[in-house]
Amino acid sequence: MRTTAVEQQSGRVTVVGSLNMDLVIRAPRLPSAGETLAGRSFDHVPGGKGGNQAVAAARLGAQVAMIGCVGDDDNGKQLVAGLHRDGIDCNGVATDAALPTGVAMIVVDDAGQNAIVIVAGSNGALMPAAIAEQEAAIAQADVLVCQLEVPGETVLAAMQKAHALGRTVVFNPAPVTGPLSREWLESSDFVIPNEIEASVLSGVAVDSPESARRAAKVLQQGGARNVIITLGKRGVLVLAEGEGEEAGKHYLPAEVEAIDTTAAGDTFVGGFCAALAAKRPLDEAVRFGQAAAALSVTRAGAQTSIPYLHEITFQG
Ligand code: ATP
Repeated sequence: MRTTAVEQQSGRVTVVGSLNMDLVIRAPRLPSAGETLAGRSFDHVPGGKGGNQAVAAARLGAQVAMIGCVGDDDNGKQLVAGLHRDGIDCNGVATDAALPTGVAMIVVDDAGQNAIVIVAGSNGALMPAAIAEQEAAIAQADVLVCQLEVPGETVLAAMQKAHALGRTVVFNPAPVTGPLSREWLESSDFVIPNEIEASVLSGVAVDSPESARRAAKVLQQGGARNVIITLGKRGVLVLAEGEGEEAGKHYLPAEVEAIDTTAAGDTFVGGFCAALAAKRPLDEAVRFGQAAAALSVTRAGAQTSIPYLHEITFQG
């Protein structure tokens, strides 16, 4: 095993997903129903799974195009400006005249626990027509990545279009409320749920690498090719297509002092996509994504915690 530093990698990643302004309140504890609490601080932090993964892929070496929708308001302008600062192509980011930009109201307590309410706003206006309009951004991508914070019909249209064009499709089914039909899993090359999402999708309670292996097999039986289940500080379980009975490889993450795990999953997905777009083998792409995610948990916030390519070293 050697330690690898990544000086450069290139490849194109197109993200179809949400753009939210996170409204973050820090308070001594989470409020109970009907209670009014004094908070300690309030910040606007760019977020949304789509935006976070786009920023992660861009900081970690990829050329990134974003397909999403903001409202005609200050939050939307700030989000797009932030994406531009990270060098992301925003030609595919539409502005909806009627709906406000998506927001997530997040209360974080002193123990690092949080409570979140999301209002999708303009993310809900990203329709399948946007995918037809942005076909060039999908055709040019080495990797297309989608989550579930924009309308499902749009996500499915994007994945099916990219799949038909022979692009590599990464699907982060987050958040998910129930099992998904075969067409969802079949139109992606990599399905990347966390423990909760994997449990919902497979019906297997995932709380260990062993249960993740069982859940991943259920997802493969449901049409998925490669399944990567993220297990927080327990790392990831990878079940690749065409593996035999002894299938499923567990990767432990680097040991770090975690102070805030917000966007760890998005950093993993964005980093994994950047490495995959740069034609790195699966094993390296997983280790690279993990190294980036481990760094992100040592820092506060969502997009503020996402590292840059020059900071990454990983065992490979
Ligand atoms: P979030 O919703 O907070 O973004 P998630 O639930 O989608 O996260 P996790 O499974 O918690 O995703 O984390 C993604 C990856 O980040 C893990 O597979 C692991 O590689 C890395 N990671 C998370 N927590 C830690 C930690 N405490 N130490 C090291 N690596 C971590």
